[in-house]
Amino acid sequence: MYHSDPPLRLKADELEAINECPASVGPVSRLPRAALDRWLAVRYALEAALSNGGDVGRAVNENAAWLDPVQRELVTDLVNNGVVVLGASDAEVQFDPDDNLVLIDHPELNVELASYIQLVVTDPHDSGRIERFKIKTGRQGTSNAEAAILLGGSDSSARFADLMLRDGTIEPIELSPDERDVDLERLYEIAARYRNMKVRKPGWQCYRCDRIALCGQYPAPTGYRVGTRQRTIRVSKSDVLRLEQCHRRLAWKALHVIPKDIDDVVSPAAAGGLLFHEVVAAVLLADDQNAAFAMELEGVSPDDRQVLTALYDRHKQIEQDHVSVEYRRTEYQVGATFVLNGLDADPDGNVSDGAPVAVTVIARTDAVGRESDGTPAVIEHRTGRTSDRIDERETALYAISVARLLGVETVAVHQHSLGGPGDPQCLRVVYDGDALEEAEQLVASLLSPLVEWHPLDAAEPQYSVGEWCTTCPYEPRCVRFRS
Ligand code: SF4
Ligand code: SF4
Ligand SMILES: [Zn+2]
Repeated sequence: MYHSDPPLRLKADELEAINECPASVGPVSRLPRAALDRWLAVRYALEAALSNGGDVGRAVNENAAWLDPVQRELVTDLVNNGVVVLGASDAEVQFDPDDNLVLIDHPELNVELASYIQLVVTDPHDSGRIERFKIKTGRQGTSNAEAAILLGGSDSSARFADLMLRDGTIEPIELSPDERDVDLERLYEIAARYRNMKVRKPGWQCYRCDRIALCGQYPAPTGYRVGTRQRTIRVSKSDVLRLEQCHRRLAWKALHVIPKDIDDVVSPAAAGGLLFHEVVAAVLLADDQNAAFAMELEGVSPDDRQVLTALYDRHKQIEQDHVSVEYRRTEYQVGATFVLNGLDADPDGNVSDGAPVAVTVIARTDAVGRESDGTPAVIEHRTGRTSDRIDERETALYAISVARLLGVETVAVHQHSLGGPGDPQCLRVVYDGDALEEAEQLVASLLSPLVEWHPLDAAEPQYSVGEWCTTCPYEPRCVRFRS
C-alpha cells in the first residue's frame, strides 16, 4: 500500500494508551511536568557527577538549581545511586549516543515503532562489549512491549538494560524471540486499529491521561474550551475529599508527582466492599440479575459469599422500593473541568497570578442510567456502616459531571446504603436549576486551594498532621520535611 503521509512514529506506551482509549493520543493541555523535569535534572546531574569526580551535590546545584528541598533530595538520591553503579568501574559512559533511537518500520501500516536509549557503556577491556541503557527513575522497568521494539529493531548482538536509579541496580532487558514477535504483533494490531478509531473509552486510564481536560469526557463549563497551553491539574474525587485533612498530600501527588514511599493499603472491610462493587457492576447490566449474581458467587470463599449475599439481598430490597432506574453502564468514570483563577509558572520558573487554571476532577460511579421518565441517574452503593456515607460534595460532583456531559438540566443521584443500621435505603437527591448552580459553586470552592499552591515548590503547601497520616503514602518523606 502506498502512503503519501510520513509514517506515524509511536512508542510502546503510546500504543498501550491507545489500546486502553483510542482518544488518548492527540493534543494535550499543560499538566504538571515535575516528573519529567526531575528526570532531566537526574540525567544531566548524573552526567556531570560522573565527570567531576563524583561530587553529586555540585552536579545537582549546577543542573537543577531550581529544585526545592523535597525534590532536591529525590534527585540527589537517584544521582548518588547512579554514580555508585556507573562510577564503580572504569567503563566508558556516553550519554545520548548518535544511535539512541531504535526504530521498526511497518510500511504497510505506515507506522514506525520507536524506543529510545539514553546511554551507552563500553567495557574498556573489551571494546566489543557495549551495553545500551534506559535510565529509569521509578519502580517500573522497561515493559515487554518496549523491549520487543528495542530487541526487534536491533541486531541480535545488541545488549540492553535498565539503569534502575531508585534501587541502584542494573536490570537486563531480555525477551525470547517468540515473546518478542507476539508483542510486536500486538503493537501492530493496536496501531492498525488506531487508524480507524477515535472513540473515548473512559476508565482507570483517565487518571494518567494528558488529554483529560480536552477529550470531552470531563467537560468544562458550556462554551469554554481548555487551551493546549493552559495549566491543568488532574485530581480524583477522593483526593479532593481528603483536602480538609492535609494540603501537602494532594499537592505532592497532583502537582509535584512525588513518588510514594508506601503502597496504598486496603483494609479487610474495604476489600469486602470492593468485592461487592465488582460483583454488582457485572450483575446490574445482566438481563437476569439473580442468575448473574449466582454465577458471580461461584469461586468466592464461603465468608465472602455470606457477605456478598447479605449485601445483594439489601440491594434487591432497594430495587423494589426506589424510583426505578434502567442501568446503562457500571463503574463509569465521570468528572468535570473547573476553570479557576490562580498561579501559573512560565518555562523559566517565573510564577504569575490570575491565570485561568483548568482543574479536572474525576470519579468512578458505581452505575449510571435513566429513571423511568428519562432523568439521568447516578447510583452509588455504600457498603460500610455510617462513616463512608456519601456527602453533598460527592453528589454535587456527580450531578455537575453528568449534567455537563449529557447537556441536561436535571440529574438524580441515588445513594444506596446497604451496610449500616436501618439500611437498606435509597437516598435520592435531585439536582436541577439552582441546585446545580450551587453544586458548581461548592465544588469550585473545594478546588480553589489547588490553584493557589506554588506550581513548582513542593515544600510550600501546608502539611497538617493527624490520624490520617498513618495511611498517607508520603509519611516518611513528609516527616523529614517538617519545620
Ligand atoms: S481522559 Fe480518559 S476518556 Fe479522555 S482521552 Fe484520556 S483515557 Fe480517553
Ligand atoms: S504524612 Fe500527614 S502531614 Fe504529611 S503529607 Fe501525609 S497526611 Fe499530610
Ligand atoms: Zn435508588
